[in-house]
Amino acid sequence: MVRLVDVAKTYSGHVAVSALRDVNLDIRRGEMTAIVGPSGAGKSTLLNILGLLDVPTSGRYLLDGTDTSQLGERELTALRAVTLGFVFQAFHLVPHLSCVGNVMLPLAHQGWPRRDRSRLATDALVQVGLAHRLDALPTTLSGGERQRVAVARAIVHSPSVILCDEPTGNLDQENSAHVMDLLRRLVTPERSLIVVTHDGAVSAQADRVVEVVDGAVR
Ligand code: ADP
Repeated sequence: MVRLVDVAKTYSGHVAVSALRDVNLDIRRGEMTAIVGPSGAGKSTLLNILGLLDVPTSGRYLLDGTDTSQLGERELTALRAVTLGFVFQAFHLVPHLSCVGNVMLPLAHQGWPRRDRSRLATDALVQVGLAHRLDALPTTLSGGERQRVAVARAIVHSPSVILCDEPTGNLDQENSAHVMDLLRRLVTPERSLIVVTHDGAVSAQADRVVEVVDGAVR
C-alpha cells in the first residue's frame, strides 16, 4: 500500500537540517502501524511525506502503486483527496458548520453531487456513533465527540490509508480509549491506518510499531 525507498528529507535554511535519512518502509493493507520516537526525531516529517503534504529530497514514495515522485502538484492533490484521510490532534472542525456540514466538506472539494454528500456524511457519522448529533455545531460537543466527527470526515470518501497525528493528544483517558477503539475498527483488509503517537495505549493496539530515531526508521 505504502512503500518508501531510500527516502531522505533535508530542510534547507541557514543551516541544513537532515530530518530523515535512508528511510525504507513498507506498509501493507489491513495493517495498523504506530510511528513512535522522541521529539525532533522526524515523525512529523515522515507523516507529512506519507500524507503528500511534503516531498522527499531524495528517494521514492509509492502509494497504492503510484510513484508519487513522477506527479505534479495537481496530481498530488487529487491522489491525496482520493486515497488519504487525515485525523489531527486538534480536531480542525469548522465551528459554524454542523457535524454533517463538516463531514461533507472533503466531498465538496472532490465534486460529489450535493445529495450524495449529505448521504455519505450521514453514513460516516452513524459509523462513528454520532447519529443523534448530525445537526449539532462542534462547539456543543465534547472533545471525544469532536474527534469522532473528525474521524467521520477522514473516512467519508473511503480512503485506502488513514493518517493520524496524535489523535488522542487532546483527550482524557476514557475518550482516548473510545476514539482508539473506533480507529482500530476502521482497519479493514483494504485499508491501512498509520498513527504518530506518544500514547502507549495507542501503540499497544498497533499491529506494528515503527520507531523513528534521529531521522532513521527501525
Ligand atoms: P518530530 O515530529 O519527531 O518531533 P520533526 O519531523 O518535526 O520531528 O523534526 C525533525 C527535525 O527536522 C528536527 O530537527 C526539526 O527541528 C527539523 N525540522 C522540522 N521541520 C522543519 C522545517 N520546516 N524547517 C527546518 N527544520 C525543520
